[in-house]
Amino acid sequence: MAEVLVYVDHVDGAVRKPTLELLTLARRIGEPVAVHLGANAEEAAKVLGEHGAVKVLAADAPEFAEYLVAPKVDALQAAYDAVSPAAVLLPSSAEGKEIGARLAVRIGSGIITDAVDLEAGDEGPVATQSVFAASFTTKSRVSKGTPVITVKPNSAAPEAAPAAGTVEQLAVTIADSSKGTKIVSRTPRESTGRPELTEAAIVVSGGRGVNGAENFPVIEALADSLGAAVGASRAAVDAGWYPHTNQVGQTGKSVSPQLYIAAGISGAIQHRAGMQTSKTIVAINKDAEAPIFDLVDYGVVGDLFDVVPALTEEVKTR
Ligand code: FAD
Repeated sequence: MAEVLVYVDHVDGAVRKPTLELLTLARRIGEPVAVHLGANAEEAAKVLGEHGAVKVLAADAPEFAEYLVAPKVDALQAAYDAVSPAAVLLPSSAEGKEIGARLAVRIGSGIITDAVDLEAGDEGPVATQSVFAASFTTKSRVSKGTPVITVKPNSAAPEAAPAAGTVEQLAVTIADSSKGTKIVSRTPRESTGRPELTEAAIVVSGGRGVNGAENFPVIEALADSLGAAVGASRAAVDAGWYPHTNQVGQTGKSVSPQLYIAAGISGAIQHRAGMQTSKTIVAINKDAEAPIFDLVDYGVVGDLFDVVPALTEEVKTR
């Protein structure tokens, strides 16, 4: 069976959920071989093996942390040369997309970004994308070279599929030309204790209807009761009520959670562009004519200041 390279997104060996989703999708088109760059490969290999990685190609070098993505591209290319895979899958993060694009240029392949599904096809893997503010779904395949595909978080549920997960060291030479952009400092963001917006299984978002930064704790309380991330519409962000890092939409982040709850959000096309592929959408809006209701699976016509706290209390009792 053909091998499929899966680029591992991890924090010090703690594998992030989008990688486990990639392994699940990779199994549809071949045998997953994970590429782990950085420390603690053995620790990562346990969970990668549990989710179907037959092999883990591991490399560690100080350059991975010292420079922007180019040294990691060198390493992924070394894995590509070693394996000759049927496809290369990466998470659709900013880093994943940049590494994927650079690799595709180097190996003379095409790239598909932001796929939301993946299936085997007669002429290679077929990726589904959601385009034009999610008005259309397209299916496409790379017609030249080895397909490089980045996949949005939450596109598949991670499935356990025990495999060997054997760690093999990957010999990597980092080119001088890859040391062009050095990282001079890192400032970790203050942790809210909530999941990362683009990876969260549940997102609770507030819009202009929240009517002030001082009212966002109402949204946060529901999010915390559900273990969810907090999102915001651009109107709420532009008003300075919530940080831009939490904006959902065309000029914000694109999310695709299992459950998206929109409170006090009208459903403008630019907001929909960032959340329309959510599996289940719930809206709370006091205007029964709000466009968001055209999109939802469940809609509540009501004042969010009544509905959201009641929902939070109900969730807490379960
Ligand atoms: P509104 O449209 O004002 O809607 C507020 C809603 O809250 C209304 O439906 C109202 O009935 C309801 N409401 C009010 N009070 C309550 C209450 N007490 N209880 C319940 N409901 C209540 N927008 C984004 O979100 N993300 C983007 O990335 C984005 N990018 C953009 C890019 C461009 C180029 C442009 C032009 C626009 C972009 N926008 C984006 C803006 C977008 O067009 C809308 O203006 C914005 O999404 C509106 O935000 P909103 O739904 O919170 O506010």
